[in-house]
Order: sequence, then structure tokens, then C-alpha cells
Amino acid sequence: MPLYEYKCEKCKIRFSVFQPVEEGKENLACPKCESKEIKKVFSSFSSYFSKDSCGSSFGFG
Ligand SMILES: [Zn+2]
Repeated sequence: MPLYEYKCEKCKIRFSVFQPVEEGKENLACPKCESKEIKKVFSSFSSYFSKDSCGSSFGFG
């Protein structure tokens, strides 16, 4: 199912909704503080995990 992620600019939380909100509509509000100051967040799955970050624990004599 398509999930759309939004972020509240007021309390800085992220929440997901099932329906996309068209621009100009104000029927979507933050579920926590009920603020209308929300922004759409694009989930980035690619290049999220950095390489050579962890996993190499050799070197200890
Ligand atoms: Zn909020």
C-alpha cells in the first residue's frame, strides 16, 4: 500500500498517511499537535547506509 510520509514542522515528528494530500488542501494535520505546518518527506532508501562504517573489527593484536 502506498504510504506517504509527512513531517510536522512544529513538533518535528514524522507520521505516515495512506492518502496523498494535494497542494492547497488543508485537511491534513499533525496527529500530535494538530498543526497544519507539515511537509512531505520523501523516504530515501538508497544511499542511506554508508559503506565502510562498521563490520571491520580486525586489527586487534
Ligand atoms: Zn506536530
